[in-house]
Amino acid sequence: MNHLGFKIDKVKIASFDFTCCEGCQLQLANKESTLPAFLGLLDIRNFREISSERYDDYDIALIEGSITRSDEIERLKAIRAQAKVLVAFGSCACFGGVNSLKNKIPGEEAVRGVYGDKTVQTMPSTKISDIVPVDLMIPGCPVSKAEVERIIVGVVTRAPNNLPKYPVCVDCKQKLNTCLFDLGEVCLGPVTKAGCDAVCPTGKTVCLGCRGPADDMNFPSFIQIVKEKGLSLDEMHEKLAFYNGFADFLDHES
Ligand code: SF4
Ligand code: SF4
Ligand code: SF4
Repeated sequence: MNHLGFKIDKVKIASFDFTCCEGCQLQLANKESTLPAFLGLLDIRNFREISSERYDDYDIALIEGSITRSDEIERLKAIRAQAKVLVAFGSCACFGGVNSLKNKIPGEEAVRGVYGDKTVQTMPSTKISDIVPVDLMIPGCPVSKAEVERIIVGVVTRAPNNLPKYPVCVDCKQKLNTCLFDLGEVCLGPVTKAGCDAVCPTGKTVCLGCRGPADDMNFPSFIQIVKEKGLSLDEMHEKLAFYNGFADFLDHES
């Protein structure tokens, strides 16, 4: 029963981590000011950071992390078979994320560099939509707590879930920040999907594109700006590759 005296059927939700730092799940679990109200809408069936109880029936599955081991593929497929709505939760799940940096190094060499002679199974970091159909993507490294709550509440109440289509620059300029391009830095704000309140450039740090490509952006114009400013194209490529969110654009460019 809610405070108005009628019963709300809670939606069953579960969260699963694959190869990642679990920072996105922690973002959600740490939001103490609004967490009780948020959880009031949901029946937590499996969420390691929030509850020790484990159940295999759920409607919404949040998937955090990329896929980097073959056994993760079967686990992900089993979750997909159960979930009515499967959400790629955070940039690792949406794009492959920072884990994708290892894709540029031969697998054996990467493992040897960290684990020496120990045997460790690994495969290229893969976004989850390459393995199973994804219903919703919530990008960010980490995700924005407010955005996650808004989107999940939207799923529960069947309201539209619209992520911003415009790039980070729009929010950055509204804050009257000094543009980091004018300070000689390559910032990915012109091509990156907004929704983070331009937190990095507001803190005088360039946007590294953790939220992936904005729908309404002009990639060739962005490259042209970098060239006109006399900035490094190598640095631009390095930044675009960091979260693997721009892989399609880089493939297309080459
Ligand atoms: S997206 Fe970032 S914060 Fe989230 S799990 Fe991956 S590395 Fe961690
Ligand atoms: S600092 Fe970055 S995000 Fe801000 S206006 Fe300049 S390019 Fe755009
Ligand atoms: S400014 Fe860019 S890198 Fe920073 S949180 Fe926003 S999208 Fe991610």
